[in-house]
Amino acid sequence: MERRKTKKILIGNVPIGGNSPITVQSMTNTITKDVDSTIKQIKELEEVGCHIIRSAITDLEDAKAIREIKRNINIPFIADIQYDYKLAIAAVENGADCLRINPGNIGTEIKVKEVINSCKERKVPIRIGVNSGSIKKEYLEKYNGVNADSMVYSALEQVRLVENLNYNEIKISLKASNVPLTIEAYEKMSEKVDYPLHLGITEAGPVWKGTIKSAVGIGTLLSMGIGDTIRISLTGDPIEEVKVGREILKSLGLLNEGIEIISCPTCGRTKIQLIKLVEEAEQKLEHINKPLKVAIMGCPVNGPGEAKEADIGIAGGQGEGLIFKKGKIIKKVKEEQLIDELIKEINNI
Ligand code: SF4
Repeated sequence: MERRKTKKILIGNVPIGGNSPITVQSMTNTITKDVDSTIKQIKELEEVGCHIIRSAITDLEDAKAIREIKRNINIPFIADIQYDYKLAIAAVENGADCLRINPGNIGTEIKVKEVINSCKERKVPIRIGVNSGSIKKEYLEKYNGVNADSMVYSALEQVRLVENLNYNEIKISLKASNVPLTIEAYEKMSEKVDYPLHLGITEAGPVWKGTIKSAVGIGTLLSMGIGDTIRISLTGDPIEEVKVGREILKSLGLLNEGIEIISCPTCGRTKIQLIKLVEEAEQKLEHINKPLKVAIMGCPVNGPGEAKEADIGIAGGQGEGLIFKKGKIIKKVKEEQLIDELIKEINNI
């Protein structure tokens, strides 16, 4: 699929847009100024492959905590600020790599200018985002309520505010919890500007349902070539957000990191405890960052053949299983040792 061409910006050392790989973001749910808990959570998110993290900055203590947090993490940090321009400036001064703030909410022109000037000095990008619930009243009236046009034009007004101050290190988000609306809004925006787009379905819901909604919405946009960075919003552990985001990208061939598991649905031919084996594999392979396709199939008759595109795999038999590479059987192993042997072979690739 051809990706839409966008301007490249840098969040810390991570490029967004242009032809850069699509990144997965998440947001901490700790009290940001509780530095130990925030660092711990960010490190856990790094472990599962989060590329960029965002935290809420609610007061000056949160803003000052950014310095210590940044010293202890390896991924770029985005400061999420609602209205207070002083907090925005403090966040930038303390090392935030990007601001999530809407210039239209900052207040007077002087305040907006001060924020943009501090971003300019350090080349800190700004994410401008309109959610379906935060469209300005005048746009709701002009475009007859919440729809793609009112979202797009409300966001564009914010974009123009920044552009008029000669700054264009911008990325844009247009999130709604309604999937078709989100798709339409991003599609429209992608025709109007070339800024990188941050995709998300907001307030997608609990983990299971939110995963499906996000996969449908974000997956549709990505398959249209739209989107440069993604965040899954789930009511649950942010670790799940990162895992879901990565799987969405992997399923479209847009993430060349980590293991992709291919496993069969089991049937009457399955003679091995396949569901248990897949769960064990999922857990043990989580931290391997090699871009490999690993198949875990229930029978030796169909398994290796059906999973030919896998780099390596298992085909279960009665109390034992075969390990195969690119469809060719390399050894027979007892059921209880299958996953550990598989991991050994993966480590040798
Ligand atoms: S791979 Fe074998 S066990 Fe799995 S669903 Fe297909 S036929 Fe059944």
